[in-house]
Amino acid sequence: MNKAVFLDRDGTLIEDRGHLSSPEEVVFFEETFDALIKLQVSFKLFIITYQSGIGKGLLGQRDVESVNAYVNNTLLEKGIKITDTYVCPHKNEDFCSCKKPNPFFLWKSAADYGINILESYSVGDHPSDYHLAEDAGGKGIYVLTGHGIKHLNELPENALTVKDIGEAADIILAQK
Ligand SMILES: [Mg+2]
Ligand SMILES: [Zn+2]
Repeated sequence: MNKAVFLDRDGTLIEDRGHLSSPEEVVFFEETFDALIKLQVSFKLFIITYQSGIGKGLLGQRDVESVNAYVNNTLLEKGIKITDTYVCPHKNEDFCSCKKPNPFFLWKSAADYGINILESYSVGDHPSDYHLAEDAGGKGIYVLTGHGIKHLNELPENALTVKDIGEAADIILAQK
């Protein structure tokens, strides 16, 4: 069985600049590269991203795919492999089954890549990113980049909260 870290994209790996429609808008956090290089030694890395701009008609599926391809390729140039990228394209009112913190994509990764969710982590700047793995038997980590500070009061008191993706990686690797 493999262990995984499920990474949010916007506000966690790259700056959250709203609905991104093209690679030129992508700005990586400085800490992202080192953090993922360290994590991938022991964990498979996944990106799970909520792109409601598609469901709302603000973004095309292809816009999101081009941004994700750019993110993945930039990481790959640094030697970082993202095993898979999962996108929820729905808006709130769709009541879909794949919107975080629903564990839909966690189970998919378990089926497709033999991931043991109980030994896996989710990391992100929204309470749904924290709850994603935490509520499925793994561990959630909340980062204060992106929208992290804005939603901090919506988190359970005992939630593991860190400064950024760099600190998240250090804590994950210290626990394993
Ligand atoms: Mg986010
Ligand atoms: Zn969805």
